[in-house]
Amino acid sequence: MRHIFHFLTYSSDETEALIFASVLFICWNIENIAGLAGGYKKWNHAFLNVQFIITGIAPQFMMGLLFVKTMQWTGQHHVGLLYHLLHVKNAFILFLVSFVLLDFGEYIYHVIMHKVNTLWMFHAVHHSDYVVDVSTTLREHPGENIIRNCFTLLWIFLSGALFWMVFLRQLIQITSNLLVHMNCRLPDKLDDIVSTVFITPNLHQVHHHYQKPYTDCNYGDVLSIWDRMFGTLCRLPYEEIVFGVDMLDKNNSTTYFSLMKMPFEKYFRQKKD
Ligand SMILES: [Zn+2]
Ligand SMILES: [Zn+2]
Repeated sequence: MRHIFHFLTYSSDETEALIFASVLFICWNIENIAGLAGGYKKWNHAFLNVQFIITGIAPQFMMGLLFVKTMQWTGQHHVGLLYHLLHVKNAFILFLVSFVLLDFGEYIYHVIMHKVNTLWMFHAVHHSDYVVDVSTTLREHPGENIIRNCFTLLWIFLSGALFWMVFLRQLIQITSNLLVHMNCRLPDKLDDIVSTVFITPNLHQVHHHYQKPYTDCNYGDVLSIWDRMFGTLCRLPYEEIVFGVDMLDKNNSTTYFSLMKMPFEKYFRQKKD
């Protein structure tokens, strides 16, 4: 166990990137064998989404440094809910509580991204994919990357989570995010069991449906319990799911530069009106 803590405490961004790339590679190959959607050019589709890695690296790295500084500060000054509310030393319980707290933070963040118009235009870039597969996970506007990490930073500060807890959670989160975007589905009976606690591809595909109210449901990141608790969980048969966003012009979301401009074009149009 001590070795695991050591690994988690002293692991770097490179370790996280390596794990991300390995899971991506596995998911990509599972899709090649068991993918549901056909009739699209998978490599061309992925090529557009992969370009978001380039603009995402710098803000992700900067925010990573801020995470570390914040966790050092909260650790030194004993700040945060975990420190004040819990007097347990059991690492597993501490991790479980920090995981649930951070996952709840992600749920709130996701709801806000859908409900605040200006923020939605950044998040809509992720939703603008007309085929959802594992590469859709990468499709995130750098503006949203910064906003998301600011929320996580605030949540880390409030919770007082330690570095190894946040790092282990990030590993679970990136794995889960890749899995739920896969162009595959769980059999209904298995999905009923897994989705009791976790977000599954079956649930997240409904979130990518082009129309409300389905776009505004299944906000959960790793856990589905928040959607159950706040009444935002819904289902739709796969045959009825159409990916995309009804308010967006499909022709404006076919190139990397049109997607990068998308949030600002909407903003300027609103200002002019
Ligand atoms: Zn969303
Ligand atoms: Zn998604």
